[in-house]
Amino acid sequence: MIPFRDTYRDIPLYSPAKKPCRVDLSDNTNLFGAPPSADRVLREEGFLRLSRYPAGYAPDLKRAVARFAGVAVENVTTGCGSDDVIDCALRAFLEPGDVVAFPDPTFVMVPMFARLSALKPLPVPLRADHDLDVEGLLATGAKLIYVCTPNNPTGTVASRAAVERLVDQAPGVVLIDQAYVEFARGGDFLDLARTRPNVLVTRTMSKAFGLAGLRVGWGVGAPCLVAEVEKARGPYKHTTLGEAIAVSALTDDVPWMEACAAEAVENRERLRGGLKALGLEPLPSEGNFLLVPVPAARWVGDALRERNVNVRVFEGLTGVGDALRIGCGPWPMMASALKALKEVL
Ligand code: PMP
Repeated sequence: MIPFRDTYRDIPLYSPAKKPCRVDLSDNTNLFGAPPSADRVLREEGFLRLSRYPAGYAPDLKRAVARFAGVAVENVTTGCGSDDVIDCALRAFLEPGDVVAFPDPTFVMVPMFARLSALKPLPVPLRADHDLDVEGLLATGAKLIYVCTPNNPTGTVASRAAVERLVDQAPGVVLIDQAYVEFARGGDFLDLARTRPNVLVTRTMSKAFGLAGLRVGWGVGAPCLVAEVEKARGPYKHTTLGEAIAVSALTDDVPWMEACAAEAVENRERLRGGLKALGLEPLPSEGNFLLVPVPAARWVGDALRERNVNVRVFEGLTGVGDALRIGCGPWPMMASALKALKEVL
């Protein structure tokens, strides 16, 4: 018998239902596509770059992120998706056996990453008004508290007052996952990442920037925080091509990204109207998706897939119950989802 790790025995592979569907609204990516400059970099430079290793710690990408985020290069770390930045932060700031606290429901990978690093995931239910239970999170004594705003899968946001109180009183690092902040009205916490010693904000190129396939994410925090995250990650975790395209997107495609985000938000609210007309009550959302409570969500999700529409199914979410998470993008996709739902419900 090979002596596998005890703590890994009950950890499943991450595998959301992924039957190919004509309309895939399951992963909150940019449904308008990839940014225009990506095509240029691929055609003009892509091939030339392939034979060499990337630079160890993505200096070009860090400079582009720093310019985009209005911070110093020393405040920036990067990773293979923001998944990687989160995973590395858990390893960097916690010892095996430590607790990581987070609101529930939230991003499903957080408890998973915690278990992969032999940490104890400790969920603290979101309040009924969808804000953070600051006292509950602090009472865990966790040396790393994760919060996500806008939150996946609810789409709801944490209030500025709650986040500030958490940051003021937390005994350790507060990691603020802002994968969907480009779609939100305000609620950007980069200022805290720049000025507080214990805040790490994570962001991604996978959502509004339309580059999920490249696996590029980044984090902003105090220089000594981001240095620890870099240690946990190690060098060479980007590809030369991924770094080059992310740099061009952050430099040249911001107006394109903002236009896509604005249209996704507009269509999200139009979709909300359509769902309400079907008797459904989506949660308030500031992301590019809506969480819609529906009984028997697994059955509904399967029936939608039969109609070539893929949405993300959640069962028994704390405070919500069964629900579907529907990604928002071009209106014809939203119309297909509404039509399929009308047939199924
Ligand atoms: N945070 C949240 C809240 C997410 O929803 C996701 C993607 N599903 C990520 C982080 C990770 O995204 P990526 O690794 O592609 O940057």
